Amino acid sequence: MTPLSRLRCIGCDRDYRLDEIRYECDACGNILEVVHDLDRLKALRGGAEWRALFDGRLAARDGIHRSGVWRYHELVLPDLPAAAIVSKPEGNTNLYRLPALERLAGSAEVRVKHEGENPTLSFKDRGMSAGVSWGRHLGARAVACASTGDTSAAMASYAAQVEGMKGLVVLPKGKVSLEQLSQPIASGCLTASLPTDFDECIRLLREVCRRRPLYLLNSVNSVRIEGQKSIAFELAQQLGWSPPDWVVVPVGNAGNISAIGKGFAEMRALGIIDRVPRLLGAQAAAAAPLARASEEGYKSRVRVRAGDTAASAIRIGDPVSYDKAVRAVRDVGGTFVAATEQEILDAKALVDAAGVYICPNSATAVAGFLKARQRGLIDAASRVAIIATAHGCKFSQTTIDYHTGTIPGVAPGHANRVVEIEASASAIERLLPGGGEP
Ligand SMILES: *Cc1c(COP(=O)(O)O)cnc(C)c1O
Ligand SMILES: [Zn+2]
Repeated sequence: MTPLSRLRCIGCDRDYRLDEIRYECDACGNILEVVHDLDRLKALRGGAEWRALFDGRLAARDGIHRSGVWRYHELVLPDLPAAAIVSKPEGNTNLYRLPALERLAGSAEVRVKHEGENPTLSFKDRGMSAGVSWGRHLGARAVACASTGDTSAAMASYAAQVEGMKGLVVLPKGKVSLEQLSQPIASGCLTASLPTDFDECIRLLREVCRRRPLYLLNSVNSVRIEGQKSIAFELAQQLGWSPPDWVVVPVGNAGNISAIGKGFAEMRALGIIDRVPRLLGAQAAAAAPLARASEEGYKSRVRVRAGDTAASAIRIGDPVSYDKAVRAVRDVGGTFVAATEQEILDAKALVDAAGVYICPNSATAVAGFLKARQRGLIDAASRVAIIATAHGCKFSQTTIDYHTGTIPGVAPGHANRVVEIEASASAIERLLPGGGEP
C-alpha cells in the first residue's frame, strides 16, 4: 500500500517520504509540511460520513479515540499504526462563552478554547502526542527540543511515557517560568539551561541534531503540526461542524497558526465543513515580526530581535514557520496584529476574572482580538473563537506581580490585591463591608 502522507517542501514542492527523518529540503533548504492524499481520503468517506465517524467516537470510554487528537487519527497521521500511539489522552479542552468579553468588545459571540486544559497545561501536548508517536514508530531512542517552556514540558512528559526513550531539552536561562522549568526536571529529562535567547537555543540544537541521532521535536518537525491541527477539528466539532467567522491565535514560532489553518483547509477539502474561518495572528509588540510584515504588505521577510514581554512563550524574533503562517493567514483573508504589555496583562486579568485562568500568551490573543474589534477588522456580528494556549498556573509570578502592581510600565486596570491582616476573626470581619458579604 502506498503511504497516504508525504513530506513536501513549502518552497519548491519537492517531496520526500514521511518515514525518513528530515526537517528541511535538500534542494532549497526550506521547511517541509506533511501532505495527505486527500483524493484517497475523499474516496474513503464523504463529509457527512467523516462527521458521523468523529461524532460516534465522542462516546468512546477508552482507547485512542478518547483523545482530542486521535479521534481524528485518519486525518492526522493515517499511516501511523494505532499501536505506536503515545497518548494521555490529550485535547478535549473546554470552549467557554465569555459574556464579559462580549460586552467589552461589543461582540455577538466570543468563545475561548482553553488549550491550557491539556495534560501538561498547554496545546503543545497535541503536537507532542503526534511527534513522539511518530518518533517511536520510526524507532527513535532519543528526542530533543529547544523551548520557551511549554514544548519542553510536553515533550518530556510524552517521552517519559515510552520505555527506553531519552529526552534532552535546551532552555534559554531565566526566560521560562519556574513552573515550566520544573516540568522537564520532574519528567526525568536531561534539562540544559543556556545563557542566551530562544532563537539561539534552537540554532545550536539544530547543529547538534545534524551530528547526533536525536529526533528533533521543535516545530521544524512538521509531524507536530499534524497533531496541533486537531485544535481546528475539535473546535469545529464542538460547534456542531459550523466553524466560527474568526479564529484568533497567539503567534510565536508560528507553527500553531499554520496548523490551525491547515486543519480548517483540509476539513473543507474533505467536505466536513463548507467554509473556513479567517485567522487573526496576535503577537506581543516586543516580538512582532509578522504584525510588522502585515503592515508592510509582506513585501519582505521581517526578522526582529525579540524584546522582553510577559508573553515569554511567544518571545520569538525570527519565526521558523514564518512562510507557512503568512500563507495560511493570507489564504483566508486574515491578518496579524500586535498588543502592548499593558493591553496583554489587562486582557489576561479580564478573562481570569471570568473564572477562566489563562497565561500571558493566551492573553495576547485576547488583546489582539480587542484591537481588531476597535479597528473594525472584525465586525460586531462575527462569531469569534480565541485560542488560549496555556494555563495561567504556569505563570503564577506574572499574575501576582500584575495584581500587586509591580510590573514596570504596567498600571493594573483590574488589580485584586491580597490583603495582609492579623490572625483574628475580627480582622477578617472588618474586611466585610457593613458586616455583610464580601
Ligand atoms: C508555543 C506557544 C505559543 C506559540 O505557538 P507557535 O506555534 O510557536 O506560534 C503560544 N502560546 C503558548 C503558551 C505556547 O506554549
Ligand atoms: Zn525545496
